[in-house]
Amino acid sequence: MEEIESDVVVIGAGASGLTAADALVAEGFDVVVLEARDRVGGRLWTREIEGAVLELGGQWVSPDQTALIALLERLGLETYERYREGQAVYVGASGVPARFERDFPVAASTQQAIEALVAEVDRLVAETDVRAPWTHPRAAELDAISWQAWLASQTDDVEARAIVSLFIAEAMLTKPASAFSLLQALQMAGSAGSFSNLVDDEFILDKRVVGGLQQVPLQLAAGLGDRVRLGQPVRTVVWDDDSVVVSTDTLRVHARRAVVAVPPNLYGRLTFAPALPAAQQQLHQHLSLGLVIKVHAVYDRPFWRDAGLSGTGFGPGLALHEAYDNTYAGSEGGTLVGFVSDTKADALLLLDAETRRERLLGCLATYFGPEALTPRVYYESDWASEEWTRGAYAASFDLGGLSRWGSLLRATVGPLHWSTSDVAAEGFQHVDGAIRMGQETAAAVGPGGGGGGRRGTPPPPPRAAAPGGGGGGAHPAPPHPNRGALNTRAGGPPAPAKVSMPSSA
Ligand SMILES: Cc1cc2nc3c(=O)[nH]c(=O)nc-3n(C[C@H](O)[C@H](O)[C@H](O)COP(=O)(O)OP(=O)(O)OC[C@H]3O[C@@H](n4cnc5c(N)ncnc54)[C@H](O)[C@@H]3O)c2cc1C
Repeated sequence: MEEIESDVVVIGAGASGLTAADALVAEGFDVVVLEARDRVGGRLWTREIEGAVLELGGQWVSPDQTALIALLERLGLETYERYREGQAVYVGASGVPARFERDFPVAASTQQAIEALVAEVDRLVAETDVRAPWTHPRAAELDAISWQAWLASQTDDVEARAIVSLFIAEAMLTKPASAFSLLQALQMAGSAGSFSNLVDDEFILDKRVVGGLQQVPLQLAAGLGDRVRLGQPVRTVVWDDDSVVVSTDTLRVHARRAVVAVPPNLYGRLTFAPALPAAQQQLHQHLSLGLVIKVHAVYDRPFWRDAGLSGTGFGPGLALHEAYDNTYAGSEGGTLVGFVSDTKADALLLLDAETRRERLLGCLATYFGPEALTPRVYYESDWASEEWTRGAYAASFDLGGLSRWGSLLRATVGPLHWSTSDVAAEGFQHVDGAIRMGQETAAAVGPGGGGGGRRGTPPPPPRAAAPGGGGGGAHPAPPHPNRGALNTRAGGPPAPAKVSMPSSA
């Protein structure tokens, strides 16, 4: 077993963990990053498949994502605009495709109902603190009604409900609208600035990164050099108030602080000793990842553009509920991307691969015509089958969870800090939120945060949970069953040799 001493150990080399590590190294901390996979980036992954460059996970950047935009600028990464000229296609209950530009091609009364719903959600978002939705005066009430039931309470217009529901359910949380609350929906919308931003695909799917968004973790990891250890799934986290020992199968890191930068559905894969406080254990069981399959179809040319279509399609009743032109910058062909969520994804995953492909290409053909049936390259990103992710896009609470446990989302537990887009406020579920959490975590661990992250600094006093605030409170460590072992090592035999990092890294 290789032994390493470090100020901070980061578990997970996604955008969040690497941002935290990068910031801490800049402050002069010793940092080790342990990553289970044989690559960095987690839910960001750019791959060449049969000659086509595809972004299998996150890819879009929107104007409100200022932390991500600032990092892209710092890393010198260029962006380009998504192709959006021409008309979009809407497929309603009739199954007949209809072209449109700004407003959905629906009856005037349905359009009015959509506008009224969007205005009402915007109003509720404006009175909800995105950093602490649980402090809303009616938080428990808003958290007890499902998004689906609330929409039904607002309008009898089934089509308006289906369209508005889609922007949070299928398109964001990727769960059925009956499975999460209105409060969770408000937090999702608030994290993007407003619901109006979320329903505006021009805004939310604005830009992409030349070379793919995985460039961000790849470049951060390159800067960290040997500090990043791949193929090291963390198994155990032994902790007390001011130290932590994190072990993989072949490596043991002794540190002052740990940044747990994995999605919350995977916290249960780690054995904590002592066990986490009861409220944390409950919280983690009520946060789950949604389910979405990202479908890529690459053609010799973007044939839909010839027909005056932008490649954007919405069909609340179709398996592939949304589609976009996803042609990679500078590539010769044309690429469409589409998404299948929640129960529709359940059903499709039961089919054999060939039948599923036929069904999904059939949806693209409904939107854009029969040429969509014969792509040169076809690929499905199925993140639910990925051992170190197990769903997509990110985690959200089931009914009642946000008001009950939300205040603990980002609360430190002894030396353990949680850092992932799944627990972010602004940029929740997005790369921007992963980066913000990495920066916040680094600040909390670092010199200004009183986090006691550097060896040789006194441990911080336990902080009380912030009263109803941003979830930045803390759990002190309970009595440590292995305390003797840690104390013996710290005060007794010489510490194992420290693995030194190249100074250029
Ligand atoms: C299909 C898809 C499309 C998306 N589209 C967008 C988009 O267009 N725009 C956008 O902003 N966001 C998008 N997202 C979301 C975005 O990708 C994520 O929010 C973000 O990448 C999460 O970063 P993270 O660092 O918090 O977590 P992750 O990227 O999940 O990183 C966690 C890391 O921890 C590692 N790990 C897990 N368990 C262990 C362990 N026991 N030991 C060691 N390492 C471990 C994992 O391997 C992983 O590398 C999309 C996501 C998906 C899946």
